[in-house]
Amino acid sequence: MEQQAPRAAHGDSTCKGEARTMAVSEGGSGTWLLEDALVKRAAGAIFEADFLLVAGGAGLSADSGLPTFAGINKKLGSEQAGQMSYDQAAGSDMMCRDPGLFYGFWFACMHAYAEAEPHEGYRVLQGWRKDVENRHALRCRNRQAKTDAADEQSLEVGPEQPVFALTSNVDGFLRRAGVAAPGAVAEIHGSLRRWQCGGVPSGCRFPLLSRMRCGDELFESPPPEPVDLDAPRCDAPPPRCPRCKEGLARPNVYLFGDGDRFVADEETTGAAAYRQWCEAVIAALRRNDGLRLVIVEIGCGLRVPSIRKRCEELFAACAVGQAELVRINPEFAQQGIVAAPTVSLVAPALTALRQIQAEVDKLQAVPAP
Ligand SMILES: [Zn+2]
Repeated sequence: MEQQAPRAAHGDSTCKGEARTMAVSEGGSGTWLLEDALVKRAAGAIFEADFLLVAGGAGLSADSGLPTFAGINKKLGSEQAGQMSYDQAAGSDMMCRDPGLFYGFWFACMHAYAEAEPHEGYRVLQGWRKDVENRHALRCRNRQAKTDAADEQSLEVGPEQPVFALTSNVDGFLRRAGVAAPGAVAEIHGSLRRWQCGGVPSGCRFPLLSRMRCGDELFESPPPEPVDLDAPRCDAPPPRCPRCKEGLARPNVYLFGDGDRFVADEETTGAAAYRQWCEAVIAALRRNDGLRLVIVEIGCGLRVPSIRKRCEELFAACAVGQAELVRINPEFAQQGIVAAPTVSLVAPALTALRQIQAEVDKLQAVPAP
């Protein structure tokens, strides 16, 4: 990110006519201006949320000091002297064309992820999870106490887990940081924790594989070979599939150029659980118009907008006034594919999360009537 100049967040229609006050904040690689009214609106919604979806993209990971794919690739690029994009270096075909480069990239990522700690923003998100779960537990207790009540609406509690985490990131940080319960996390592009059979390279330019993967079974990632992070290449023999012993083992991550080479198991990625969660939340909101959903979408870009699109789809399926879509992104925060966000905060993840939390703290400090 090369953003340096302060940027003003744009208000939405609800803030028109109000004097706009801005909070200046240092974060990421620049100075950011966040509109007070929008930060307060986000905090208020989170403070009262019955259901919470945390959706994270690359911009959420970036603040943990993780080297970005592009950054790792720059190092590869200097060694290769070629201008190869990280898509290609870490992509599906490279496993056959240049395994040293391919495994160097992915082992370097595994080392970097293992050494990095999830940043403070993840703790903020974990705190929101606890608050929403506490409110949910209270609703569940109330329901038990009032089993004979005629008022069915007030007995609606929604899905078992009121908080869900959805991500296209493969670093596993949302899971590691406990942003949602283990069964309520979807990593739709896979995760570096699990590997799969990649098939047998042919040694020819075409076809690249003499045999496709032996099956869809996933296995634990092999221990990463040591690689020099300043010139990540792996000279060790590529890891083999423990099942067929012939195919190369590779991350169960949706790689550039993968097509159906990626084992897209919806049970494993959590995509199936996410769909069920959405259905249960939408049904609960319909049955009880007093319930509220907040979708916090963080650092989800437009390049591969799979997470953005899912957030907007869920938001669009909810009745007006029952859901908020809070988008945190230093770029294109207002742009919508299916629906526009109700709150767009133009800032990096950590900067925006800190500011929202400061407002949530103020709300929590007010004694309940
Ligand atoms: Zn195999």
